Amino acid sequence: MYKGPKYDFLIVGSGLFGATFAYKANQAGKSCLVIDKRPQLGGNVYCEKTEGINVHKYGAHIFHTANKAVWDFVNSLVPFNRYTNCPVANFHGELYNLPFNMNTFYQMWGVHTPEEAQAKIAEQRATVSAKLDGSEPRNLEEQALLLVGKDIYEKLIKEYTEKQWGRPCTELPAFIIRRLPLRFVFDNNYFNDPYQGIPIGGYNLLINKLLEGAEVKTNCDFFREYKDSWRDLADTLVYTGQLDEYFDFRLGRLDWRTVSFKTRIEDTPNYQGNAVVNYTSHDVPYTRVIEHKHFESFGQAVYDNPKTVISEEYSTEFQPGMEPYYPVNDDRNNSLADQYRALAAAEPNVLFGGRLAEYKYYDMAPVIEKVLNMKI
Ligand code: FAD
Ligand code: UDP
Repeated sequence: MYKGPKYDFLIVGSGLFGATFAYKANQAGKSCLVIDKRPQLGGNVYCEKTEGINVHKYGAHIFHTANKAVWDFVNSLVPFNRYTNCPVANFHGELYNLPFNMNTFYQMWGVHTPEEAQAKIAEQRATVSAKLDGSEPRNLEEQALLLVGKDIYEKLIKEYTEKQWGRPCTELPAFIIRRLPLRFVFDNNYFNDPYQGIPIGGYNLLINKLLEGAEVKTNCDFFREYKDSWRDLADTLVYTGQLDEYFDFRLGRLDWRTVSFKTRIEDTPNYQGNAVVNYTSHDVPYTRVIEHKHFESFGQAVYDNPKTVISEEYSTEFQPGMEPYYPVNDDRNNSLADQYRALAAAEPNVLFGGRLAEYKYYDMAPVIEKVLNMKI
């Protein structure tokens, strides 16, 4: 058993929740030990340098927020670059800009003005509009047809979504597709938030800054090393691991959706000309290809490095032992998570936070915002 000093906080997990908590605790003059079961720090934002390129090992991460305080906070630690996410969709070799905007409509139908695009969509949605007759769309297919019409649904949504979620669009909730902007202007920015970028030099710099002043220990699994003894070590436990695992899965296991990556080096300076290309037809087994260098180098600078690193992203059914990525928000999981949350609330001197411990999908900025607003 660990015999070192007594800390104010033992923080389980060095992702953005744990690291931001450690930063705030340090500023408040409190001592922390941060442990992570992985061999490195940073949780899902960790990047691995390959061929001089920061490779987003646990999935592409683009920081975006409408919260100026959060933006100023992260920029006070590491300046962010001007990366703006503008994914391109490839459907059987045809290329379309995303999200759905005037560029997409021009590429799809050759229309030149917003009025022409709106008329085309109105014509394309006529069948579903008549069928619904004013009632709310009951599933993703009806919602997509109503928003953008048949051609865009069939070429850019249907097969991609079914690949990604492993279920027919008629069995998926309508709200998923409402996350995507629909714009009648020529604007390929995937997000509506006013602030967006990638830390200059990569996310690891941000994590290192947040963890300055904390003691850290990697390759250290809480359940193996401290589950029964942590009270001897720290006054308060900040737990950012899986909610159900903390309670030994005693009420049953929560489900997750996961993705897997096939990453390789390509002997070319510029493989696809963009950070993100979505493959929207089901004959291509992966959902998208990420070319990591485009997150941090722009224009001619792309050619400064003769090589590039790309990752194919596959939607994968979750099995115990895989990375738990996205919570599954169906009735069974929502109600099971509520039961675990009730147990968590009754746990003395333990704070549960972050996307695994709250069983909640969080983007990066809301995780930071949540910790900044906590009283430590
Ligand atoms: P995590 O980053 O998962 O950190 C949790 C840490 O706890 C991990 O390091 C884990 O190893 C550790 N841990 C777990 N159990 C134990 C244990 N028993 N003992 C010790 N350590 C343990 N957000 C955006 O804003 N933009 C994006 O583009 C974006 N893309 C994403 C893509 C993917 C594929 C995924 C999955 C998420 C994406 N996100 C994105 C969300 C972002 O990753 C999260 O908001 C952020 O990681 C949350 O931080 P966290 O600390 O809660 O969790
Ligand atoms: N989507 C799509 N085609 C695309 C990109 C997205 O049909 O080329 C759909 C898909 O159903 C996805 C949803 O839009 O789940 C929301 O997209 P977002 O990029 O927010 O999804 P995420 O990958 O973050 O779940």
